[in-house]
Amino acid sequence: MSKTQDLGALLSDSDLFRTQGYINGKWVGASDGATFPLTNPATGAKLADMPHMPRSQVSEAIDAAKSALPAWSALTAYQRSAYLLKLHGLIEQHVQDLGTILCVENGKPLNEAKGEIAYGASFLQWNAAEGLRTYGQTIPSPFPGTRNMVIKQPIGVCGLITPWNFPNAMITRKMAPALAAGCTVVIKAPAETPLSALAMAVLCERVGIPDGVVNVVCMDKGDREAAAGLELCENPKVSKISFTGSTPVGRLLMKQSSSTLKKLSFELGGNAAFIVFDDADLETAVNGVIASKFRAAGQTCVCANRIFVQSKIYDRFANLLAEKVKAFKVGNGMTEGVTIGPLVNQRGVEKVERHVKDAISKGAKILVGGERFIPEGGESNITEDETCFYKPTVIINVDSTSYVSSEETFGPLAPLFKFETDEEVIKRANETEVGLAAYFFTKDLQRSNKIAESLEVGMVGVNTGVIAQACIPFGGVKQSGFGREGGPGGINEFQIEKLITIGGI
Ligand code: NAD
Repeated sequence: MSKTQDLGALLSDSDLFRTQGYINGKWVGASDGATFPLTNPATGAKLADMPHMPRSQVSEAIDAAKSALPAWSALTAYQRSAYLLKLHGLIEQHVQDLGTILCVENGKPLNEAKGEIAYGASFLQWNAAEGLRTYGQTIPSPFPGTRNMVIKQPIGVCGLITPWNFPNAMITRKMAPALAAGCTVVIKAPAETPLSALAMAVLCERVGIPDGVVNVVCMDKGDREAAAGLELCENPKVSKISFTGSTPVGRLLMKQSSSTLKKLSFELGGNAAFIVFDDADLETAVNGVIASKFRAAGQTCVCANRIFVQSKIYDRFANLLAEKVKAFKVGNGMTEGVTIGPLVNQRGVEKVERHVKDAISKGAKILVGGERFIPEGGESNITEDETCFYKPTVIINVDSTSYVSSEETFGPLAPLFKFETDEEVIKRANETEVGLAAYFFTKDLQRSNKIAESLEVGMVGVNTGVIAQACIPFGGVKQSGFGREGGPGGINEFQIEKLITIGGI
């Protein structure tokens, strides 16, 4: 397979399509010329040869960020806010192109990709305002002639490590509060979706964010990625790591950061319970599960992974869900009307297959989907073995010992478990080592408060399958990590509190 795709030809501003990293305001390849191929998951076509940067270039990017820090942090909050608002405006102007880049490298349908760009931009708007409100405190002292003040200062250089499932929004969610607080950043772009990160760097350059304030390094998965992680964690010039990704990589980064005792915030894996009680509005609950489960083809950390439906409505819920899922249009995200794209790579397809096979072997039944798929249209030269498409799937009568109970599928598989009582379902929902998000549907106010407070997670959606907004805190408990992104406290993750106590007054 050697087909290539000219992504630039799809853009009205082809300058947004960059295939070099961005260090200290310069566009650079890997210092030793190494590259790795980037492909479109919908077609297998090659999009670009991307720089496969060694550790020394990550260190250079850190040096650049450290040099840029004094001037950037010395700007007034109003000046930094103005940069963020300009960037927000430019993103809005380029939503079609940024969405196209995202769709082509990640696979999610163009409309959904454009929705992510708007969501990503909202973090710039929110943090442009939050940066102006980083209030300190004055605290009465018990000692005569003494005054106490607490001020907020930028923590310093931040290493931002982001995943491929939200190639734009995961970057702005970290970069916007960091820049607003007065920090400078080194972004390690994910190997699967570096183009969205680089397009964002183009826009940072265009709004005149000074050299070195934002740097983007890229490399393929494997040794150089591990080396980049080591450099970001071990380099004493980096004060903070903000990471979104899997729990095992989070554990590794935490261990590696112990020698320099960095401030960390981690958004890690989830295994969300989605609970539908007998008294729920069925149509609303089915729409909720569709929004939560099938967005990004099920590749979101907050997506419904275990769907618990109370026994009285189980069959009706399952049939209605299956009917709606059958109507999805699966295909290349650039094709008009497509509602579900491919998974990001083969590894993703294999995991869904493993989960479906295992559940079936333990007695589950497929209502819809359950196989790999090659969309019609002749635009692809992929074979059944190479396809990244998996049909949206609903399975019923799933046993609680199935893999899908304890691992996140990260794919378009909706497994339905049956339950009887509130106590039983709370126990089952909490029986997981992670705790990111959970959802439930009911019309009963008392039940609603009780269940929301009993779920061991960082975020709960009640009668909704969508929980992410820039103005509210996003993050988990247990092994889903710590720290919050967005909301009134999001910017604190990139600041230190400094006490100034003055005597002899
Ligand atoms: P991953 O942990 O393998 O990779 C995430 C990022 O870390 C990528 O940029 C990757 O290149 C990088 N990385 C991997 N190993 C590294 C190392 N040794 N040093 C430095 N960087 C390293 O996860 P993934 O498979 O890319 O993404 C899916 C996972 O991310 C899922 O588990 C999902 O739940 C989680 N996720 C969580 C959130 C959240 O906000 N909680 C959001 C999206 C995804």
